[in-house]
Amino acid sequence: MTPDLTPQFLELIRLAATDLPPDVEAALRQAVEQEEPGSAARGALETILKNVELSRANQTPICQDTGTPIFYVYHPEGWSTRKLRQQIEEAVVQATQKSYLRPNSVDSLSGKNSGNNLGGNYFPTIHFEEVEGDALTVDLMLKGGGCENVGAQYSLPYNTLKAGRDLEGVRRVVLDAVHQAQGQGCAPGILGVAIGGDRGSGYYASKEVLFRRLDDENENPELAHLEKRLTEEANQLGIGPMGFGGKTTVLGTKITALNRLPASYFVTVSYMCWAYRRRRMVWQDGNVSFE
Ligand code: SF4
Repeated sequence: MTPDLTPQFLELIRLAATDLPPDVEAALRQAVEQEEPGSAARGALETILKNVELSRANQTPICQDTGTPIFYVYHPEGWSTRKLRQQIEEAVVQATQKSYLRPNSVDSLSGKNSGNNLGGNYFPTIHFEEVEGDALTVDLMLKGGGCENVGAQYSLPYNTLKAGRDLEGVRRVVLDAVHQAQGQGCAPGILGVAIGGDRGSGYYASKEVLFRRLDDENENPELAHLEKRLTEEANQLGIGPMGFGGKTTVLGTKITALNRLPASYFVTVSYMCWAYRRRRMVWQDGNVSFE
């Protein structure tokens, strides 16, 4: 039996759209203290933080671009993914009516807006995976268009940057992606990086890894080291909040590694803007909790 969880999905969307996760807000508050008093960088971060507080208090979207809703659904054996999709889509329609989401789904050929954030099989994007146990876990990310535009995928070796098929090569291309983005992805950003896979799975995994908390540590010591190093080095590029210069260009880096064909070595970077809207819902035995 698949229970009707439409109201719970609506609450998940409301939380994601209007209430920035505590770890992201904490990182922004730490960043503001590092910028020079009176600087444009500090001003931009202070404005962002005011906006975060207002959105939470008024239950209004954190940013006017409410992004592409991307759901990762981990469901117990025997649940109907068809019914879960219907419920999630209904919750998306209701969230749009309540203005938690702006109507964002546009037909790519005609330019016509569907008006309710639905459209084909990929808007919203929903990934399903069956898991052991009897709990349903749903992760939701609202991925802004500006930051999605500056995502990048590199095929190594990448000779322009002398980037070979090793972690030093990964480091070079990820820093290049940040440099190319400048402030356009609404810095300070968070980098989701997938090493390996094919082009499709690389982008999938580079978004999935963004569900990790900012303050966690990669279980792989080599990747943990690279995550810290990339964050430090990106922050030395001087791009700063919204591209105004300063010390805070990225808030964190999260890396995952996938198996790949011997012939390919892709590095995929998903750039998430400061409006790092991601939330999790867990349902078990009729009880629901949100993180
Ligand atoms: S990139 Fe992010 S912060 Fe910038 S406009 Fe889009 S959703 Fe808003």
